[in-house]
Amino acid sequence: MRGPVDLGNLGQTLMHEHLFVLSTEHVQNYGSDWWDEEAMVARAIEKLNAVYAKGIRTIVDPTVWGLGRDIPRMQRIAAETPVNIVVAAGLYVYEELPQQYAYRGPGLLIDIPEPMVTDFSRDITRGIGNTGVKAAFLKCALETPQPSPGIERIARAIARAHVETGAPITVHTSGPHQTGRIAVRIFREEGVDLSKVVIGHAGDSNDLDYLTELADAGVLLGMDRFGLDAFNPTPERVKTIAVMAARGYAGSMVLAHDANCFIDYFGAAHDAVRAAAPNWHYEHITDDVLPALLASGVTQEQIEEMMVANPVRYFTPAKGGAS
Ligand SMILES: [Zn+2]
Repeated sequence: MRGPVDLGNLGQTLMHEHLFVLSTEHVQNYGSDWWDEEAMVARAIEKLNAVYAKGIRTIVDPTVWGLGRDIPRMQRIAAETPVNIVVAAGLYVYEELPQQYAYRGPGLLIDIPEPMVTDFSRDITRGIGNTGVKAAFLKCALETPQPSPGIERIARAIARAHVETGAPITVHTSGPHQTGRIAVRIFREEGVDLSKVVIGHAGDSNDLDYLTELADAGVLLGMDRFGLDAFNPTPERVKTIAVMAARGYAGSMVLAHDANCFIDYFGAAHDAVRAAAPNWHYEHITDDVLPALLASGVTQEQIEEMMVANPVRYFTPAKGGAS
């Protein structure tokens, strides 16, 4: 957010957190009862400073179009906290390509080079809009067992933007549908450096064969929804990480909560819904998960790998290039 982060200063990193998940169009039209911009900016600053006090130095935020990326708001927050906030380029949809890309592209009504590659690469090389803030990684989603042609087109555009820019990728996947396999297949076909890919939400699965297959393909496993017990309870997530670490895969895992300061999916009921998931916040890993991992036989060195070394390796350009 404040310019390129020195990779040596990444420090303890949460690899998948959102500041806000908030549809711009929805909040502008229907948010007057439950959205208070100033209070929410203050809430984010407070939460980031609290997690900084516990040792977290960097938050990697994959909030792209479809989740409500708002760089000017993030700049206000970044100015008031020492936490590094790393932002993303890409598109988050499960089923349908937005109309803004449906008619433009190779062989389409407006026959131009893939506009998603153009847009996402520009976010990385020149900056987002006129904010001057550069995205440092790419994000897309593969949720359904059979991606639609539009969803596959997005994934391939993300892959090509990676090949063009060298920026790493985080892909939302479904643990139950094991769509990490689809991500690996598509990215491999597109010549992606799989060591620069995080399979997001891999940690929703406790299927060791699935996780091992992905890790052996060279990707990083996003063990990144701590506190979302409805998808997989913390004790199960901890057990799975401990087994994988014991089998030599600490170098293949990164940690996070997929938390946020506010998500508009629940509207005015936000705080009540949040009360039902009391550990879904930025501090659960530091407070509860790391002690539980240590108690399960994971070593301090393996924790450092997952929280510091693996993020640094992921963001380090493969061959020279800008950081
Ligand atoms: Zn997320």
